[in-house]
Amino acid sequence: MSRIETHIGDITRLAVDAIVNAANSSLLGGGGIDRAIHRAAGPELLAECRTLNGCGTGNAKITKGYRLPARHVIHTVGPVWKGGSAGEADLLASCYETSLRLAADNDCWSIAFPAISTGIYGYPATKAATVAVTTVTRVLDDLPDILSVTLVAFDETSHAHLQEALGRKTDAR
Ligand code: ADP
Repeated sequence: MSRIETHIGDITRLAVDAIVNAANSSLLGGGGIDRAIHRAAGPELLAECRTLNGCGTGNAKITKGYRLPARHVIHTVGPVWKGGSAGEADLLASCYETSLRLAADNDCWSIAFPAISTGIYGYPATKAATVAVTTVTRVLDDLPDILSVTLVAFDETSHAHLQEALGRKTDAR
């Protein structure tokens, strides 16, 4: 059975071991999903983020989840889309891979990801869905203890992109 599932809705509601935040490199607050996560987690989350000294693009750092139903938040910094020839795909793949490995290192066996970089950072949603599905599939082969990865779409359109990318993966087998 596949360990990759999809979900439409608000990632802050999910009671998983870790939710992933599409943060900016300061880790000190931004718009979009970052704002929603900080609002739901409460001010202790920002206080912990202040101790982390930021995060590089393609990298990830972990905090507690505070008032969230999720035990932990993994903050990753996606690439800003600059047309596709500036290493964006590798950096986006690195966000998914680094976050999954950090989750496993911290005994997080159920993880939920948003569509990193596809909001304010402008990464085309279909291309981003392909990177998400192929990277998670590849890295899960190496992390047998992870039970489930939920790819969260905020709307029907991004959900359709995920389904399409997952379908292509199945076709290829
Ligand atoms: P980035 O700066 O990495 O582009 P954004 O916060 O702008 O990050 O958005 C990333 C994706 O997360 C977008 O597709 C957006 O629709 C989605 N998103 C925003 N809020 C939520 C939420 N509460 N739950 C799940 N997905 C969300």
